[in-house]
Amino acid sequence: MTNGVKAIRGMNDILPNESYLWEYFEQTVQRWLAVYGYRNIRTPIVEQTDLFVRSIGEVTDIVEKEMYTFVDHLNNDSLTLRPEGTVSCVRAVIEHNLLYAGPQKLYYAGPMFRHERPQKGRYRQFHQVGVEALGYAGPDIDAELIVMCVRLWKLLGISGLRLEISTLGNVESRALHRSRLLKYFEQHRSELDEDGLRRLYTNPLRILDSKNPRMQQVIENAPKLIDDLDAESCNHFESLQRILREQGINFEINLRLVRGLDYYNRTVFEWVTDKLGAQGTVCAGGRYDSLVEQVGGKSIPACGFAMGVERLLALMQECGREIKQPVPDIYIVHQGSEQVMNYAWKCAEFLRDEGLDVILHCGGGSIKSQMKKADVSGALYALIIGDDEFKAQEVSIKPLRELIEQASVKLDSVTEIINSY
Ligand code: ATP
Ligand code: MG
Repeated sequence: MTNGVKAIRGMNDILPNESYLWEYFEQTVQRWLAVYGYRNIRTPIVEQTDLFVRSIGEVTDIVEKEMYTFVDHLNNDSLTLRPEGTVSCVRAVIEHNLLYAGPQKLYYAGPMFRHERPQKGRYRQFHQVGVEALGYAGPDIDAELIVMCVRLWKLLGISGLRLEISTLGNVESRALHRSRLLKYFEQHRSELDEDGLRRLYTNPLRILDSKNPRMQQVIENAPKLIDDLDAESCNHFESLQRILREQGINFEINLRLVRGLDYYNRTVFEWVTDKLGAQGTVCAGGRYDSLVEQVGGKSIPACGFAMGVERLLALMQECGREIKQPVPDIYIVHQGSEQVMNYAWKCAEFLRDEGLDVILHCGGGSIKSQMKKADVSGALYALIIGDDEFKAQEVSIKPLRELIEQASVKLDSVTEIINSY
């Protein structure tokens, strides 16, 4: 260990014996997003602190205690490592006037940072893929986002996910609900914990999100938002449900669904599994019709979701989805004069041009020791090149995973021979 320096707690290295799963996941996701016409947006991982504080909400777990905020000592700016991706995406869309060209279907992928207590499925650097549809009032797009998820779960071989949906209503109905909640919780002050008391006057909605078992009863009996809902939001919610039913998608209505960020309104949803213990939410999202305006743009409706890559990969494993680690097609073993080596190099490049994955042995050694390395590499075939092969301008091909005799062949027939085995 170099001077005992280790990675930061809760921030993981992803090593080759695992990173191929990430690559598989990323390739699947890219293809899936293309199918639905979503385009990639890449924003910096650091933003002005103020951007997150204003839009995520001051009285949220993220802003209160999870953000990595620091002062850039060169100019005294307060900066924050992004705890989520939606806000940066909206900032970029406004800054570059993308909505001028019409509604935008976008996605992002990458690391997010939250100072939480690290545990299985909960890290301080974790990864999300986020999908955002800006300029769409829904509920058709709300439904499309959910339908998309169903297709992705199939592609990834994931089963048993539960869809929970709810609606938060519009700004007015939330305000009404807030005042009723405040009144209710004031009457039940003695049942609130420290966090609850602190949030009573700043953001009583957040009390509903408490995981404290001691408070579940008082939360259970609290006034329900559905009773304060405006008619339009009700219609929106019902249309969404109709489309989902029509598309054969099962869902549960969970009126207690509270998202960890303040900017949501109307539709909210989560995909939840029982297979990952306490960290069971793998994907979550909803509508955020006021965010674009709040960040400084025009009033434009939008909806999106983010999924947690670590949790989805863990779930793929729980579901028994096996992805084979990719192996090279060919490992070239070579020994002899410099001419032989040059010939081996030419062969390697030729076969790569043909589309094969080729490892050319580096570092010398006996044919026997090189053959051992060829075996360990997982390659399907060894190509052996020595003086005889060079003179005949051929290569010897030896299948490593099947009992087939070694054969000397012309270089330009290697691909054909491999395909015929
Ligand atoms: P949770 O309730 O688990 O804290 P959240 O509501 O804070 O989740 P979101 O902000 O909605 O999460 O993020 C979307 C998804 O990102 C989550 O459903 C989860 O899969 C993943 N996620 C969030 N925080 C973490 C984390 N610290 N480590 C790993 N994955 C995370
Ligand atoms: Mg959280």
